Amino acid sequence: MNGGAGTWSGDVLVVGAGPAGLAVAAECARRGLTVLLVDENQRPGGQITRRRFLDRPSGSGPDVEPSVPEGVSFRSGTVCHGFRDGRQAVLTSGHELWRTRTRAVVIATGAAEKVLPVPGWTLPGVMTAGAAQTFLKGSGFLPYRRVLVAGSGPLLLAVASQLISAGVRVVGVAEATRPGARQWRDALRTLAAPGLLAQGAGYTVRLARAGVRVRTGTGIARIEGDGRVTGARLRRLRRDWSFAGTPEEHVACDAVLLSHGFSSAADLAAQGGADIEWDAQRQTWRPVRDVGFRTSVPWIRAVGDCAGVGGAQRAELEGRLAGMLLAAELTGRPAGSGRIRSLRRRLDRLETFRRGMDRLFRPGLGAASWPEPETQVCRCQESTRAEVDRAMDNGVADLHALKLWTRAGMGPCQGRICAPVLSTLLAARGHEPARLPPPSIRYPVRPLPIAALCRSAAPEGGQR
Ligand SMILES: Cc1cc2nc3c(=O)[nH]c(=O)nc-3n(C[C@H](O)[C@H](O)[C@H](O)COP(=O)(O)OP(=O)(O)OC[C@H]3O[C@@H](n4cnc5c(N)ncnc54)[C@H](O)[C@@H]3O)c2cc1C
Repeated sequence: MNGGAGTWSGDVLVVGAGPAGLAVAAECARRGLTVLLVDENQRPGGQITRRRFLDRPSGSGPDVEPSVPEGVSFRSGTVCHGFRDGRQAVLTSGHELWRTRTRAVVIATGAAEKVLPVPGWTLPGVMTAGAAQTFLKGSGFLPYRRVLVAGSGPLLLAVASQLISAGVRVVGVAEATRPGARQWRDALRTLAAPGLLAQGAGYTVRLARAGVRVRTGTGIARIEGDGRVTGARLRRLRRDWSFAGTPEEHVACDAVLLSHGFSSAADLAAQGGADIEWDAQRQTWRPVRDVGFRTSVPWIRAVGDCAGVGGAQRAELEGRLAGMLLAAELTGRPAGSGRIRSLRRRLDRLETFRRGMDRLFRPGLGAASWPEPETQVCRCQESTRAEVDRAMDNGVADLHALKLWTRAGMGPCQGRICAPVLSTLLAARGHEPARLPPPSIRYPVRPLPIAALCRSAAPEGGQR
């Protein structure tokens, strides 16, 4: 620590050591800036490289475990809880609470998985596809024998394929979208990113060889079980994701992995005072940025998935570019214009690919019909669909008011899980997220350990 007890002072704080954060940190340190990189995980690399036991298909990330870039100070197991008193970030490493005072902060906190609730989704044996993947990457196994993977997006195929490689029996994949001719035409533009296309083809081949049936245009009507998952009822979906009038199909399984896409982790930027906007293409809230990746708060930049989900390659390229531009600003030495142009061109190509994918897997508002009245829509506060409906019947029409009426979004996850669900329920009643005030995020964005508060002399407890 420098700059006083419990305070680190330097040029740049980077929060999140995924591909985006590592690249920003490397570019800034290379140009002589003092950089502190923090991550709540023990090792750098972010979501994509969280593996020890899994094989990695080509094109899905670096082949060697990423290391901390030269000249960068790295603190693992460190959570950033938000910003207080101007530019000070408040962090905890275990039970130690400390702060940073820097010229700039770069937020590179990635994305969270979206899960749209269905009856039975709180049973033991239901987890997100990404959580199962993380478990598998860390331990090499999954403690279930028959697994159903359901939701929407390329992660379903990736996880199902990885489960098969790890010897887990996948009883089926239920993909909610059923691409039409226009969507396939868009998808063909993914040839702009042939590596990613090859990766998707590899997953499909592995599933076909293992005899796993991928049902498109299919959703889960109910997850069944008494105390634990024993099966699920599948139903055909219309294009808008509402249930078609066809009979249900029962699938026996002891685990259901759900994933309906991703939402950007915009909470830190929002708590820091940055403007947040609805990204209709990716169906998520994200920080507003200028071409230099600056948010509306000039000392806060946001890069990678936390500012628009786009995959590991895009996150890394954005990180490089953002780091070069930030270093140029802080050192007064201009960045090479040729390299900047080339990075922007590559980012544009990946954005074309992304647009195709987003259109292909665009969630339908019919998903608002999935939860039944007693289904929990906010797991932290156990708020049910009936409570949310009652609030909306009484004129509640935005996330903030819903939080006050039902407590949904007030729990430890601060709406990271339920905000997309509540946005869907509001949108189904005609309250388009783009026209609503964004979620209000308060300090601390992550739960603060009581022990850290007790050990700290800093006065805590106020809210922004
Ligand atoms: C669950 C999941 C599964 C995925 N699976 C695949 C896959 O199979 N194949 C594929 O190609 N892509 C996959 N992706 C996408 C890919 O991982 C991302 O696009 C890419 O990693 C984005 O890089 P990033 O640097 O923006 O964020 P990330 O790699 O997500 O890194 C963000 C880092 O920030 C840290 N962090 C977040 N908040 C805080 C905080 N408050 N304090 C401290 N640290 C914090 C996180 O621990 C994380 O290490 C997956 C993404 C997710 C979320």
